[in-house]
Amino acid sequence: MNLPSPLQTVNYRNFLFDIKRDDLIDPHVSGNKWRKLKYVIEDVKRLKKTQLVTFGGAYSNHLVATAAVAAHNQLCATAFVRGEAVKNSMLDICQHYGMRLLFVPRDEYRNKSALFMRYFGNDDSAYFIDEGGAGGLATLGCAEIIDELPNVYDHIFCAAGTGTTVAGLLKGITEKSLHTKLHAVPVLKNGGFIKEEIAKYTIIDDRLELHLDYHFGGYAKYNQILLDFLTDFTHITGVKVDQVYTAKMCYAAMQLLGTGKIPANDKILLLHTGGLLGLTGIQHLLP
Ligand SMILES: *Cc1c(COP(=O)(O)O)cnc(C)c1O
Repeated sequence: MNLPSPLQTVNYRNFLFDIKRDDLIDPHVSGNKWRKLKYVIEDVKRLKKTQLVTFGGAYSNHLVATAAVAAHNQLCATAFVRGEAVKNSMLDICQHYGMRLLFVPRDEYRNKSALFMRYFGNDDSAYFIDEGGAGGLATLGCAEIIDELPNVYDHIFCAAGTGTTVAGLLKGITEKSLHTKLHAVPVLKNGGFIKEEIAKYTIIDDRLELHLDYHFGGYAKYNQILLDFLTDFTHITGVKVDQVYTAKMCYAAMQLLGTGKIPANDKILLLHTGGLLGLTGIQHLLP
């Protein structure tokens, strides 16, 4: 594991900022998924469990990360995958790491604890990990990103799905009493729900700002504007970003800088949360 993850200074169209390259932590346990699983794995070992059981969609970065982490730690892994059985490069990687995949219809998938009880209720070796790795232990790992920073930033940007990573960052910022503003960019439509999610783990104050208008239609949705931005950003900076998470976050940050809502002289950090395997699904659309 490449830790602490590298910090890179970038100049994109005359905007200067740093990128925390959590995407470089590991090729398959990339970014925030490694941060989120770190203390979960410690807990698994403490409880002497031997099997990780988790949940995700067919393109879930969390499933790939869990499969790889399980193999690194000599643990078994089973995933409940939402929807009808499919094959794709990400699920192939999961299986390559030895993860067992159980495809379940969408209505059954919704009740995760019921699924866990039905299949693993009598199995003492099994450890429940929520979809996306969400949970209190995950926030502890994400808070450590703040500990690794050599500078105090005026602004930190982070893409949000469940909001767990943002919760961890806010916890880290609050514990250190930093003045940093944390800009969360939900990639789902109506992403305001993450505020309640974050409140489960840490105190929210005006250091947290949500930017709800950069979801591009919803989870895993994108348009030509986002693809053009993604390509331009990568050409100019050399940093790859994916259309599901980090491109939306970078786009939001550049818009806020471009419109002067964030002063260009402020110290700015973008957190690269990884997720680059998602690019394999759209490679054919890029120039
Ligand atoms: C999973 C993921 C996120 C979202 O993290 P949450 O903690 O669920 O908000 C952000 N970026 C990437 C690349 C991811 O894979």
